[in-house]
Amino acid sequence: MAIEQTLSIIKPDAVSKGVIGQIIDRFESKGLRIAAMKKSQLSREDAGEFYGIHRERPFFNDLVDFMVSGPVVIMVLEGENAVVENRVIMGATNPKDAAKGTIRHDFADSIDANAVHGSDSIENADIEIKFFFSKREIH
Ligand code: ATP
Ligand code: MG
Repeated sequence: MAIEQTLSIIKPDAVSKGVIGQIIDRFESKGLRIAAMKKSQLSREDAGEFYGIHRERPFFNDLVDFMVSGPVVIMVLEGENAVVENRVIMGATNPKDAAKGTIRHDFADSIDANAVHGSDSIENADIEIKFFFSKREIH
């Protein structure tokens, strides 16, 4: 299997709950390495561009409002099959559907406030990593 990089965001709900460390532990204990990390407050412009693929969806404005409602932690995760591995560790988009032991099952309250973002493909991971990090910030 190939070593991949993927983008992870710990969303404002999880940051304000004080579970950054517990979420990072899920990644590290399953073999994903933190290659880059920063805490940031997204602007509306950043959040809208980042989730631009959903611009026409009815939940777009709520999604942007939520993503700018507090600071986030943005990471590049690296490891074997990292894109799919991260999505498995995260669980389903709606925490009600997320399997036991996944981050969204254990830490998320609703489909809006669902604790984490993860890139959904290798192509999008590359775009999303470049959106937030320069090469010299990734180790
Ligand atoms: P993310 O991109 O944040 O990792 P995801 O890939 O699991 O989540 P997407 O389909 O990309 O899900 O949706 C992006 C975000 O938009 C979701 O995390 C969720 O908060 C919100 N969202 C998606 N579908 C709905 C919906 N039907 N109703 C309300 N909010 C939704
Ligand atoms: Mg997505």
